[in-house]
Amino acid sequence: MTIRAKHRKRYRLVPCALAPDGQIISPEEAVRGNLHWCPECKNALSLRLSKLQNPYFAHTNKIKCKLEHSSVVLAKHVLHLVLTRWMKGSGDPVEVQPFCEKRYELPREEIHQIKLNHGIRIHPKRTLHSHLSLLDQHGYPILHIEIRDKPRTRHIKHPSWLEVSAEEVLSNPYLLSSLNPHMNFSTSIPTQLNLFDFAPPYPSLSSHH
Ligand SMILES: [Zn+2]
Repeated sequence: MTIRAKHRKRYRLVPCALAPDGQIISPEEAVRGNLHWCPECKNALSLRLSKLQNPYFAHTNKIKCKLEHSSVVLAKHVLHLVLTRWMKGSGDPVEVQPFCEKRYELPREEIHQIKLNHGIRIHPKRTLHSHLSLLDQHGYPILHIEIRDKPRTRHIKHPSWLEVSAEEVLSNPYLLSSLNPHMNFSTSIPTQLNLFDFAPPYPSLSSHH
């Protein structure tokens, strides 16, 4: 789905960038003179100033990048930035709301890593790709986030598979409401119970799309 004008205005074309140290940063955190790359297509970004002197990122060269055309891809990177900031202790908490249930704050102290476009084998013949996966210190999944324009017709039956709407993420990236009635994420459940029934370690099939 294309990106609505209000989201475009709020997040600009490119909401965040990869800094030279590989960290994901906002335009406000960018250092002028440093090189910055697009987190989606990995091409060079320029740091520019708006008429109101607010910094923003734009692709240096005109290229076709999904970040500028897909609300799902934009939401993925907005959420990545929000989660990264929060993990560093400098942003508002992110809450999860299972389908029609009460909200939980994500267990920040348990999250050690965020992986983008993470491949998860749920069956010997079936691999799912999450947009963002939150992993604990052992690399085990706490939450797999899938961003969608429309809900799945057949939901994934997995307790830590969180299906969210791109539109809702862009409107409020601090509250992740599940579209999936089978999701029953709870911070009171030990992380181990969120695992698949396979023996760890799970094959990591990460790839960049
Ligand atoms: Zn790009």
